[in-house]
Amino acid sequence: PEGERLQKVLARAGLGSRRSCEELIEQGRVEVNGKVVTSQGRRVDPERDEIKVDGLTVAAQSYLFFALNKPAGVVASMEDPEGRQCLGDYVQNRETRLFHVGRLDTETEGLIFLTNHGELAHRLTHPRYGVAKTYLAAIQGPIPRDLGKRLKEGIQLDDGYARADHFRIVENTGKNYLVEVTLHEGRKHIVRRMLAAAGFPVDKLVRTSFGPIKLGDQKSGWLRRMTHTEVGQLM
Ligand code: URA
Repeated sequence: PEGERLQKVLARAGLGSRRSCEELIEQGRVEVNGKVVTSQGRRVDPERDEIKVDGLTVAAQSYLFFALNKPAGVVASMEDPEGRQCLGDYVQNRETRLFHVGRLDTETEGLIFLTNHGELAHRLTHPRYGVAKTYLAAIQGPIPRDLGKRLKEGIQLDDGYARADHFRIVENTGKNYLVEVTLHEGRKHIVRRMLAAAGFPVDKLVRTSFGPIKLGDQKSGWLRRMTHTEVGQLM
């Protein structure tokens, strides 16, 4: 038979695993030459057929998705006019333009994505999609029993209330606490501001997950290509 199976072409273009690309087709998100294709048997010629996902042309060039464990002190932008260390330093000499997905404070460490899929980068940080992010914060105790409850009920900040979805104490070595906070918020310095407003300034902050993707034991300063499965989960 001529051509290639549509899900294979989508997977190769960086849209996820074959299985997750089958789901994109099932969900009616894939068009070939202007018509939505929902059957899995479709064969295409990637050179000649126009393939779109969510209305966006799937470029012959593939999508790239990286996960970086940003060290503290690195500015969360692709370039820095002042010449400080920035995200661009971790992805030099790539042919395609990469965007970072969301921001982290310069002093905050942890998971940040880099991708050439501008639309997805935008979508993942848009408040409407409310992607959950998890942070580990080092604070000084003792902390009151109801700290988690207060964070989940909402803390009043200068620019309105901010609410956590989850809170737990991960480590408690007498005075020093390591706490985990999950929230959907994207406002600037949000975790630091919430904890400071509750009376606990943050000594160190690490983002350990972004949506379904986890930092795991990826070393500080390491960049890795995301797996097809992970990309599929993000789409
Ligand atoms: N909250 C913060 O305070 N800083 C970050 O970098 C991210 C969330």
